[in-house]
Formats: sequence, structure tokens, C-alpha cells
Amino acid sequence: MSDMKPPLALLAELTHRCPMRCAYCSNPLALDPSSAELDTATWCRIIDEAAEMGILQIHFSGGEPTIRKDLEILSAHAAERGLYANLITSGVLLDEARIESLARSGLAHAQLSIQDCEEEAGDWIGGLAGAHARKWKVAEWLGKAGMALTVNAVITRHNAERVGAMIDLAESWGATRVEVANVQYYGWGLLNRAVLMPTREQLMAMTKVVEAARERLRGVMVIDYVIPDYYADRPKSCMGGWARRFLNVTPSGRVLPCHAAETIPGLVFETVHDRPLKAIWADNPAFERYRGIAGMPETCQACDRREIDWGGCRCQALALAGSAEAVDPTCEKSPLHEEVQALAAREAVSGHRDIVYRSFSLEKSDPSGKAR
Ligand code: SF4
Ligand code: SF4
Repeated sequence: MSDMKPPLALLAELTHRCPMRCAYCSNPLALDPSSAELDTATWCRIIDEAAEMGILQIHFSGGEPTIRKDLEILSAHAAERGLYANLITSGVLLDEARIESLARSGLAHAQLSIQDCEEEAGDWIGGLAGAHARKWKVAEWLGKAGMALTVNAVITRHNAERVGAMIDLAESWGATRVEVANVQYYGWGLLNRAVLMPTREQLMAMTKVVEAARERLRGVMVIDYVIPDYYADRPKSCMGGWARRFLNVTPSGRVLPCHAAETIPGLVFETVHDRPLKAIWADNPAFERYRGIAGMPETCQACDRREIDWGGCRCQALALAGSAEAVDPTCEKSPLHEEVQALAAREAVSGHRDIVYRSFSLEKSDPSGKAR
């Protein structure tokens, strides 16, 4: 495997701790406790290994990565090793001094999530009262600190009609990019799918809004648009293909090809304590299992889109077809495709509002919809 290309980016999940409790969170249902988190020295060693194997970007993520007091040490270390450092944050723990300190440490870019452009609805989905109001200040402080900003607008059926207003909000904050991201159904998002799923009509309307905004904002702000796979005829190219472009390290140090990979039974993932990242990337059997064309279902191997979507998503195949070996059921070539589309349509009109909020122990919400 000496000719193996390195991944483009490392997703460094520093912690699963987070003050928010988002209904759509893609973290696993079994969250790593703080006692299991890697220490600063180990993360610095991981950054060294990432740089040595040719990784170009590091995304500090979580949970809420700013909960870690050593984030500045890690971003400075990443910058020293030539990695482009990005922070993926809800922003709720940030103040101006911390943002300045992070900018000084070498952090180049921040990706700030918003759950809505209306306070009550945003706080309900995020499960934290006051979270939404805080983001205005955070966006302003990020701009003052000179950090490039991407706004990650998370879309569900409860805010689909406000996509245009969310794009306007990102523009008013000076974002150079907005990701209009329909929820992907993994982790807590999968558990809450019936609460979150938009209707096809909502999707068609938001697509028109996004297209018009792209036209209006050409050269000003890039708009990425992620639709729910369930309404597509072909799946997304998940992670750019299994073990092709991205490497993920969990808070306790497990090395994965994507954040949901551990849901697939029978795969044995190594930790950063077992072998260097480069060796794990090169020949860990779980990475090899679905890598490239040889790891695809036969239908995909014979398909002309096999190097476009790389056979969709193995974790989604498991969640919807009960097997990671199956054709991703969001693909029209899957025998389950129509069933999945019907399921999405049914859930979208279910009226379901009883969120299971993300927590270290499964917790039912107040069905009245009030945030904590
Ligand atoms: S999605 Fe929400 S709950 Fe999950 S890590 Fe991000 S901010 Fe926290
Ligand atoms: S058959 Fe496989 S490769 Fe072809 S479009 Fe469907 S998921 Fe993609």
C-alpha cells in the first residue's frame, strides 16, 4: 500500500461534551465520557502524524471543541505543522477574548452552526435556551478577529420555509460561505428522523430559493446545498468515498473513515495508541473493507457512477437496508428505493415533535417543545 494517497483532512473530534443537545446531532448515541478523552500531548502527536502523512487540513470538532481549554495549543501546533486549521462550533461558549486568543493561535477559519433564524424555533431544535441569540455576537467577534466564516445552516421541516432568511443572515454576518445543510440521518438525527424530515414539496421550494440566492450572491458568498438523500434518486458521495479522503479520530482515540462507521457491526477499528495514523490508513482491515471499487456492492461495481458517488453510504445502507453490504437504498437501483421515499414522505407529515435530545444518557423531551 505504499502508493496509497493520504487523506485530505483530519476530523479531530476533541470531545463529545457539548452544552447544546441538538435533535439532529450526528454523534453516536453512546458518547465518549470526558474521562476517556485524549490528552493534549496525544493530540499533538496525532497532529504530527497527520502532517507527516501529508494531510492538509484539520477540522477541530466535537461535541463542542471550544470546551477544551487546550484548543489554542492544538491549533497553534497544527499551524506550526503547516495544517490549515478550521473550527466547527455552535459558538455558544465563545466570547470575544477567547475568539481573539484562538485567532492568535493560528486558527484560520470557523464554521458556525445556526439552527434557525428565529430564536424560539432554533433553541427548541438545539435544546438550549439562549443559544440562538448568542450567535450574532459570535459572528461579529469572528469577523473582528479576521477569521474566515462559514455558516452552517441546519435545515429541517421546521425551518425549511426560512432558508432564504437564513442565507440573508449569513450574508449580513459577512460569511464567505454558507452550507444549507439538510439534516443527514445518523446518530441522534436518525433517532429523531420523524421529527426532522421535510416534505418533498418543502425540498422543491427550498431548492428554488437556494438557486435564486446563488444567482444573486455570485462572487459574494458561496452556497453549498446538501439535500436529504432520502428524496434523491442517487446517493451523495459520502465522505468522498469510504477511506478515500477523510480520517476521523474520536474523543477517545478510535480512528475511523467516517463519524458513523462504528455503527457497522463486525468492523474492528484501531486506536491512536495501537499504530500511527499512516499505518492504520494504509491497511487497517476495516478501512480496506469498503474502500474503492472492490469494496462496493456488485450493482455499484458495474455502474457508471461508481467513481462519482463511490457507492453512496455504507452506514446509510446499514440503517435503511439492515446491511452495510447492500446498495445504498437512497439509490434508484436499490430494490428498497421506493420504500425509502415512501417512508420519508410518511414521516414528513407525521406531525411528530417529541425530540429525543442528545445527552450522555438518553433523555425524552417535553413534548410541548420547550427548550431547557
Ligand atoms: S450538533 Fe449540536 S449537540 Fe451535536 S455536537 Fe454539534 S452543537 Fe453539540
Ligand atoms: S448503483 Fe451504486 S454507484 Fe451506481 S448510482 Fe447507485 S449507489 Fe451509486
